[in-house]
Amino acid sequence: MNILVISHADVVRLLPMEVCIDVMADALRVMSRGGAVLPLRSMVWTLDRTGMIGLMPGFLDQPTSLGLKVVSIFPGNHAAGYDSHQGVVMLFETKHGSPIAIIDASSITAIRTAAVSGVATRALARPGASDLAILGSGVQAASHLAAMRAVRPIKRVRVWSRNRDNAQRFADASPVAVEVMATPRAAVDGADLICTTTAAREPILEGAWLAPGAHVNAVGACFAVTRELDTAAVARARLIVDRLESALAESGDFLIAKAEGAVGNDHIVGELGDVLLDRIAGRRSNDEVTLFKSLGIAIEDLAAAHYIYTQALATGSGVSVPLGA
Ligand code: NDP
Repeated sequence: MNILVISHADVVRLLPMEVCIDVMADALRVMSRGGAVLPLRSMVWTLDRTGMIGLMPGFLDQPTSLGLKVVSIFPGNHAAGYDSHQGVVMLFETKHGSPIAIIDASSITAIRTAAVSGVATRALARPGASDLAILGSGVQAASHLAAMRAVRPIKRVRVWSRNRDNAQRFADASPVAVEVMATPRAAVDGADLICTTTAAREPILEGAWLAPGAHVNAVGACFAVTRELDTAAVARARLIVDRLESALAESGDFLIAKAEGAVGNDHIVGELGDVLLDRIAGRRSNDEVTLFKSLGIAIEDLAAAHYIYTQALATGSGVSVPLGA
């Protein structure tokens, strides 16, 4: 039995952002219809809490995908020049349960997370939204710029990062003109599209700063005790999540606002998949503020991995390695 090993470079080549956006939309629809099985993430921190390893297993009914992502998260890596998310996605076939592929997870995570925000933006942002603010300047900031450009006619891009030099490096490396702003408030002032992509633990975006009609993709805070948005930002927005069970257990942006008494569970309108299935309304008016809270779920990795694996077989990519008998 052989297993196909697929590298970072192959993933980038085989999974273009525009394609991944559609792959993610399909997967989210299947999940919201009940065609997915996935537990909450399981995480183990190092004793000094400088890093963690997370397990994200799952099954997706269509395309049939069984597997898991094993990913380490070391938030200090941006400063050290390493990706903060490293690991592998393992795919198994579903007739006998044999492993069939091991795929770089850094690249999948970068592309699929932004692609899901692309799906949310396509569904929730105003059609003409063109003034983009990105908070953060790391891996997700870059992939979100690509995703936002894929779904909206972006004319202006502003970036803020805690470390201004990193924001400038991000701007210099970007394929379009990017203005570096001194504060998050200056970056989002009047913006109609905002992506928060930081490892911040305390709010970096306040509700009072949001322009009427803005759409926010909140991507960074993935734990129950961390948040990027203050309570006012969550409370004033129409809140759509990637997965309801995950948001209720893992989203500090939501849970801290709830603990402060500003919102209840019913503030979550539903899952993005439900919007795509027309089960719930997305944006209801031009002035409404919409918020997509992304936590990242295993079926996104599996759907991306399945697509990459199929493309790798078709193009002879990857390295086939003998494994079992
Ligand atoms: P990077 O390490 O590449 O970048 C981290 C960014 O966060 C940098 O811009 C850094 O700013 C900023 N930052 C770190 N600490 C703080 C802080 N205390 N206050 C404000 N800004 C801070 O990470 P990624 O781009 O890969 O990931 C960004 C975030 O998104 C992480 O929290 C990650 O866990 C999350 N994530 C979410 C996913 C999802 O599916 N929802 C998937 C993958 C990641 P600077 O460099 O200027 O210091």
